[in-house]
Amino acid sequence: MKNISSEKNSERDLLSLLEDCRLCPWSCGVNRLRGETGRCGAGDKLKIAAHTLHFGEEPPISGRNGSGTVFFSHCNSFCVYCQNYPISQIGYGNEYSLEDFTGILLSLQGRGAHNINLVSPVPYTPLIKIAVDEAKNKGLKIPILMNLFGWETEEFAELTSDFVDVYLIDIRYSNNETANKYSGIKHYTEVNEKFLKKINEIRPSVELDENEIITKGLIIRHLIIPGHSEESIECLDHLKGWVGNEVHLSLMNQYFPAYNAFKYPEINRKITREEWERVLKHLENLNFKNGWIQDFEEDN
Ligand code: SF4
Repeated sequence: MKNISSEKNSERDLLSLLEDCRLCPWSCGVNRLRGETGRCGAGDKLKIAAHTLHFGEEPPISGRNGSGTVFFSHCNSFCVYCQNYPISQIGYGNEYSLEDFTGILLSLQGRGAHNINLVSPVPYTPLIKIAVDEAKNKGLKIPILMNLFGWETEEFAELTSDFVDVYLIDIRYSNNETANKYSGIKHYTEVNEKFLKKINEIRPSVELDENEIITKGLIIRHLIIPGHSEESIECLDHLKGWVGNEVHLSLMNQYFPAYNAFKYPEINRKITREEWERVLKHLENLNFKNGWIQDFEEDN
């Protein structure tokens, strides 16, 4: 078995990580360079569904000009309520060469993006790293962000820490049964704890530039799932215990039922104001000091 954090610097070594793919906790061991695919379904080429300026992220990410967001096809978790399911679960998108992807990164910077924001990047990380290095050689200067589910390994943290400036990481569940039921993954809580602690060590503080745009750091996101406000409360307790209450936290109420959520009546709705306020009250009680909360839309 190959340790993904070792021999990570040359292009050849990075590509070799696809020969025995263990980039995520599934640790499939498939040879993606020979056409095999593992649980996520990603192949040996970068597959991208969209790349655009995105204005809906937290203020220090979107800023005035937008976040240069790249949505990768496929995903290594299988959320039954995924709002991006055509991309993540069905795998819509087009394959790009490393050279073309490098061009995309530079063109997002050229359009004024404050950063490069990589969504569902895990299965493509070695390829991304090669392209980012090349883009930096050609003038890419804006920070690199990774948008992660919080179900990544410590080795993945080591593989990415020298080129990812900002980590946006979920704490989605406090209960492994719920994680398995709604996202089809195992041991979420243990994996989430280790990964969040590791990244908190790597990026212990948030740094902003003169325009209040994030340049380094960790932002943790929590999406409240309907009928599960108790789990949200437990997630906040976990978070405070794992990384303290000074971490930057983004509390989100934007859930709406998508994809297969209709098969699970308890999550086939938006969250209620009562659920939102319960979680908010607990956030205040725990005295989290930094971050953002979404406005509650009355049609929830
Ligand atoms: S990235 Fe995909 S192929 Fe690799 S270990 Fe994870 S699920 Fe398996």
